[in-house]
Amino acid sequence: MSSEKIPLAGVIGSPIAHSRSPALHGHWLKTYGIKGHYIPLEIAHQDLAEVLKALPKMGFVGVNVTIPHKEAVLELADQVTDRAALIGSANTLIFREDGSVHADNTDGCGFLQNLHQNLPDWDPKAGPAAVVGAGGAARAVIASLIEAGVSEIRLTNRTRARAEALRSDFGPKIVVHEWVQAGGMLEGAKTVVNTTSLGMVGQPELKIPLDALEKDAVVTDLVYAPLITDFLRAAQERGCRTVDGLGMLLHQAVPGFERWFGMRPEVDDALRRAVLA
Ligand code: NAP
Repeated sequence: MSSEKIPLAGVIGSPIAHSRSPALHGHWLKTYGIKGHYIPLEIAHQDLAEVLKALPKMGFVGVNVTIPHKEAVLELADQVTDRAALIGSANTLIFREDGSVHADNTDGCGFLQNLHQNLPDWDPKAGPAAVVGAGGAARAVIASLIEAGVSEIRLTNRTRARAEALRSDFGPKIVVHEWVQAGGMLEGAKTVVNTTSLGMVGQPELKIPLDALEKDAVVTDLVYAPLITDFLRAAQERGCRTVDGLGMLLHQAVPGFERWFGMRPEVDDALRRAVLA
């Protein structure tokens, strides 16, 4: 009998059936002929601590984390990267040989990689960014834009207090704009991002007047179902280049796969097709 250990990884959350991560990692495992498995795990909040202790003993090398555990895992991890601490949540856990849990957040690098891959001449330093929304995903986007050297981030959110909280966490580069006057912050913005869930299947549209949006702005949406949201379509009609949110989901998965299975995977059209199927 072989004593070769087959690495296991997965995604923990609740509900978990909708997660595209198994299709994503499953495609890479098959493409690269890696012996390993990636499994969706439905985990209730009250079981989280026990599960994180048990998974390494069961042969798991790590997991992705989704709603509702992204914040709670920070409390339970033995080490937390600076960026995960700053963002306030983790999406990737690595289980070390001794069973300790290392937590990271790769959403921000997924966001940046997606823009760089689709628009290689995109320059975060070209001018101000305008970010719509101040939830968990916005925190990752803002942290990555600041790291990438953006000069100013104009931020708006339906609940203003949440945007103000981001300003106090991320500093004076953040300028908070009123939700009802959000269209005004688009003037001169070079990178425009929707981080709200508006525009997603089953959700209302994101309705921001785009009159001030200039042609040279790059516009992206974190929503990827549908792939082209009404917001992106309206930006395209104004002549802007747009990038959909699916690539962010694909790129945020790269560091975890590399750590767990020992090779850096490619984000390409075949992966997009596998995840959309
Ligand atoms: P979240 O923490 O719940 O934040 C939701 C955001 O949407 C908040 O800014 C919220 O505003 C706003 N919002 C929701 N309903 C609204 C409405 N009816 N009117 C105005 N604003 C509304 O969620 P999240 O984790 O940040 O995720 C946000 C979106 O990003 C989701 O669609 C998620 O699927 C997507 N996402 C995509 C990726 C990717 O890889 N592409 C990664 C992460 C997230 P309030 O603060 O006023 O409630």
